[in-house]
Amino acid sequence: MDQYKILKQMLDHSHRIVFFTGAGISVPSGIPDFRSADGLYNQKDKSNISPEEIISHSFYMAHKREFYTFYKDKMVYPNAKPNLAHEFIAKLQDTKEVTVVTQNIDGLHQEAGSKKVIELHGSVKRNYCERCGAFYDDKYVMASKLIPTCDKCGGDIKPDVVLYEEQLNEEDINNAITAIMKADTLVVIGTSLVVYPAAGFIRYFKGNALIVINKSKTSYDNMCDLVINEDVVKVFEKVNEENKEN
Ligand code: ZN
Repeated sequence: MDQYKILKQMLDHSHRIVFFTGAGISVPSGIPDFRSADGLYNQKDKSNISPEEIISHSFYMAHKREFYTFYKDKMVYPNAKPNLAHEFIAKLQDTKEVTVVTQNIDGLHQEAGSKKVIELHGSVKRNYCERCGAFYDDKYVMASKLIPTCDKCGGDIKPDVVLYEEQLNEEDINNAITAIMKADTLVVIGTSLVVYPAAGFIRYFKGNALIVINKSKTSYDNMCDLVINEDVVKVFEKVNEENKEN
């Protein structure tokens, strides 16, 4: 039996599924992992600043202009659309209890129709005035010159994205752990789970089937019931074909 057939059977036999997703699921939608992006060139000391350094709380506070130059160029993709993998997960809600826990900030799971989505690192779709709390969408931020500012009070607008040095939302972490503990199937997609706190989450899983779909091998493959090292869109195309045949 091929791996797609096995995946289909595992999903068919599941009732409560958690999908844990990372950058790899959005690559087919044209969103590269920002960690692989080039940093910013610093005029003063001719050094290159790494993406991790730019997307940090202290850098944001000290250099908002440079932060937004990188952020708008490398992290926000207003025209990106959900792909077949996002859609497959959303469709599964019709017959299963599905929770999505994602490291992505692109909002594509919700756009595909997923209802229960825990965004561990926030979302580029939500932005708030630092002074009065007014809400702004990603299009407003992208249309701004340099630093986006509030229409109502003139305050600076900050993306609702968890920057380096910032704490993840505790409620999100607890909800993610609870969902994983209750799940009978955990599907990890497009992440090597090296980003905190994702690596620790797997420990809470007590269900039947741990599945990994990732283009390259991961360090936890030997723990899994099924590993598919293949493009995620291709994987769900194959599962859809299996579904049609039956
Ligand atoms: Zn304001």
